[in-house]
Amino acid sequence: MIKPDAVKNGHIGAILNDIIAGGFKIVAMKYTRLSAEKAGEFYAIHKERPFFGELVDFMSSGPIVAAILEKDNAIEDFRKLIGNTDPAKADAGTIRNKYAKSIDANAIHGSDSDANAEIEGNFYFSAFERF
Ligand code: GDP
Repeated sequence: MIKPDAVKNGHIGAILNDIIAGGFKIVAMKYTRLSAEKAGEFYAIHKERPFFGELVDFMSSGPIVAAILEKDNAIEDFRKLIGNTDPAKADAGTIRNKYAKSIDANAIHGSDSDANAEIEGNFYFSAFERF
């Protein structure tokens, strides 16, 4: 997911370039917006965290780009490509290092396991929308 801050700041194209240059194939993609309810559902795993309310407000604050990506070793390689959750700690050249300004508005989301990638892909896309 390209998050609302990166969309608002005009980074969609540059981020997609980095993703493609990183060897990922785009299998599904859409420009959309999450309601607060849907954002809460997507991040339900963080319900008990102190920043949950801020996270839901931020993720529903503007349009996002959702995508399903394919690659060997995709989860690990995508986390390397996007960098640390906190952009201040993200390695030079990573997407969060280049396009994010804070831990809450950190430009991009990547699934943290194959199982969550399956759940998150199904959250946004039907089987008919995957190519
Ligand atoms: P990720 O897998 O790298 O995205 O990190 P996590 O799963 O730990 O956290 C999910 C998302 O919650 C992060 O990408 C941030 O957008 C947000 N988040 C994490 N920590 C904080 C925090 O301390 N404050 C706020 N406002 N948001 C946070």
